This record gives sequence, structure tokens and C-alpha cells, in this order.
Amino acid sequence: MKIVKPGKNETFDIELEEDLLKQNRVLAEKNRIRFDQYHVHAIDVLGSIGSGKTTIIGQVVKELKGRYRIAAIAGDLTTTIDAARIQDKGAIVIQANTGKECHLDANLVLKALNELNLEDLDLVLIENVGNLICPGEFPLGAHQRMVVVSTTEGPYMIVKHPYILLESSVLVINKIDLAQAMEVDIHQLREDALNIKPDLKVVFANGRRGEGIQDLIEALNLSGE
Ligand code: MG
Ligand code: ZN
Repeated sequence: MKIVKPGKNETFDIELEEDLLKQNRVLAEKNRIRFDQYHVHAIDVLGSIGSGKTTIIGQVVKELKGRYRIAAIAGDLTTTIDAARIQDKGAIVIQANTGKECHLDANLVLKALNELNLEDLDLVLIENVGNLICPGEFPLGAHQRMVVVSTTEGPYMIVKHPYILLESSVLVINKIDLAQAMEVDIHQLREDALNIKPDLKVVFANGRRGEGIQDLIEALNLSGE
């Protein structure tokens, strides 16, 4: 099979511009300092469109809102659908609209943080834009990254996204109720993930029904105060 790849400095993608990435990292550091200053734990939630990020975040909020003061930052191009869904579950939500950008960046998160009273919060869940590729290059200052992958995305979602998994601590394999119909082996997905990152915590979930949410809360180390 013939394979072509870009050579060095041949990539026509502004997102890979070193300067931009560097600026983003500086701002991400600022965000992190700000979170730490107020003892707020921040989680960056990544996954493709339709993987179930919003549903999972909503379930986590529902489960934890009695124990933690929670806010969410909902990243999306132009809509506020996800933000409204998370708000319904009991979190304070800031919508972060990226316009045409396919990822959140640390600057937009900083703007969202300016709209939140961090002293009144314990936990901030950041729903990134639905995409598993470039958000990986844009740290936001969160303490943890969690990836949501759904069985409806087929059997190769994990092996095709090694970089994002390497930078994450938790993987949710969602919509396990649909695995059989999709002919996807969830244990194989788990194995693929552990081959990429052996210490990754893998959780099976059915977000719509709230199944696996307790396991997820444990995997995120949020089960105790
Ligand atoms: Mg969503
Ligand atoms: Zn992007």
C-alpha cells in the first residue's frame, strides 16, 4: 500500500503553528493557577459529536450536586443546546461558543472563568467541542482529561485516537447497550485503550440510563470529599 505523509514544515494547518500553541499553553497555566488558588478541580471532557459527553456530564452533575458545588463550561460552535441540558441537571453553566473553531482554547476558558465565582465552586466540568483530534493540542488548564467514546462510533475509535488517550486519565466507553447492534466488542475497545495507555481508567457506561456513573465518579476520584 502506498502512503503519503507531509514532510517537516509542510503541514498547512494553522493549529499546528508553534506560536499559537505556545500562547495557549501560557494561558492554560494561568487557568490552572486560578483553579488551584480557589481549590477548584477542573476536568476537560473530550469526545466526538454524539458520543454522549453532555449526557454523561449531566449524569455526573445530577449525582454529585449534593456533594460539590459544580459549574460547567459548554464548548460548542454556535448552539446552546448542551449548556441548557447540563443546566437542567443542576449546574451553573457558561456557554463558550467558538464560532468556527473545532476546539476550545485556554483563552476562551479564561473568559468563561471570568463569568464564574470560583470561590463558590468545587468542581468545573468543561465540555470540549465534539472532536477527538485537535482539542488534544490545546490544554485548557484542567487537572484531568476524560474521553468519551461511544459504541456507535464503531470498533476503531480507540486505535485511531492514540494521542488524546495518552493525555487522558479516564476513558468512558458509552452506549454499551448498543454494542451488540453495532457489532462492537466493548472488551476489545478496553483492551485497545489499555494497549495505548496501561494505567488508563476505563469505565463502561450507558449514559442515558445513568449506568456506570458511580464507576466513573470513582475513576475521577470524586467519590469522597
Ligand atoms: Mg454535547
Ligand atoms: Zn480544532
